[in-house]
Amino acid sequence: MLLSALVRACVLRYSLALSTLVAASLSPGTAAPATTSHRASRSTVRAPAAVILPATASAWDLAVGQAARSALGHAQGAVVAMDPHTGRVHALVNPALGMQRGFQPCSVFKIVVGIAGLSEGVITPETVYNCRKGCWMWAGHGPIDLRRALAVSCNPYFEWVGEQLGYEKIQRYAHLLGLGEPSGINLTGETAGRVPTFVRPEAVGHLSSHAAGVETSAVQLAVLVSATVNGGSILTPQVSGPADFVPRERWHLPATTRLEGLADGFAAAVNEGSASAAFDPEVAVAGKTGTCSQLGWFASYAPADGPQLVVVVFLRYGSGHGASAVAGRMFRELFGPGGGPVAAGMP
Ligand SMILES: [Zn+2]
Repeated sequence: MLLSALVRACVLRYSLALSTLVAASLSPGTAAPATTSHRASRSTVRAPAAVILPATASAWDLAVGQAARSALGHAQGAVVAMDPHTGRVHALVNPALGMQRGFQPCSVFKIVVGIAGLSEGVITPETVYNCRKGCWMWAGHGPIDLRRALAVSCNPYFEWVGEQLGYEKIQRYAHLLGLGEPSGINLTGETAGRVPTFVRPEAVGHLSSHAAGVETSAVQLAVLVSATVNGGSILTPQVSGPADFVPRERWHLPATTRLEGLADGFAAAVNEGSASAAFDPEVAVAGKTGTCSQLGWFASYAPADGPQLVVVVFLRYGSGHGASAVAGRMFRELFGPGGGPVAAGMP
């Protein structure tokens, strides 16, 4: 397993050297480079994903990049893999879709509403809401708390939280979590995404569950989910290192920010909810899915009880279920038996 990983890594190193160089000049509208020229030249086969790695990639970076690319396969989408404690980007697959364009984050935005609700005292992790109708599950989820609402992505729960908050507070937390402006990643052509300046009061509920009008990149969501596991640090993602790497914190969330209860919900999503495709008895994964407008998202990390790697998967045509399956394959290869950070030479 390790030997085959190293062989793959060596093959990848040759092909990635080019894409890493090209990445430095990425600009809006530039086609992302294919990494394996002999495949790209065959018109009948879609070019494999472009993978951006640090110029001085470690064995772990190479392993992460290879796992991300093979897990995504030929699906149109993007994967970003980042260290949640430092912001070091190990790999970014398809930057054109993962960084240069924003898309509706769908139910991943419920993380923002959850943090706002907890921090503003609208809910605690124990608060129970009765989901009776109007949910994606027609009969409703019945009495439901934050953990379960995150796990099954209950719409009425978050609509109720959002309506109590009002849009101004939701907007404030969206910005605090880094949305609506470039993350500052050291690649050119990054999108700012979009956080609406105004939302009609009657539309706040729908925005809280579906993120209508909001646009985010996978890179922005990697920063956001990292903040939930690193104690509230909004980091600048950097494709560099591991040698001489210096983490950069853009800001820290206010001391009044409450993050308790989120991790339980993210773990429950994988163990008993919308992200069950990422479940593996050997690797504890946690995260939040998003599905809407044919888009699929999974903002995740592993190991659940000591996060070492944040992975955000975006599918241009897919679902949260499909995106969680991609992340699951990736985590399995990296953290499952025979793999793992130590075997791959982390960092
Ligand atoms: Zn529900």
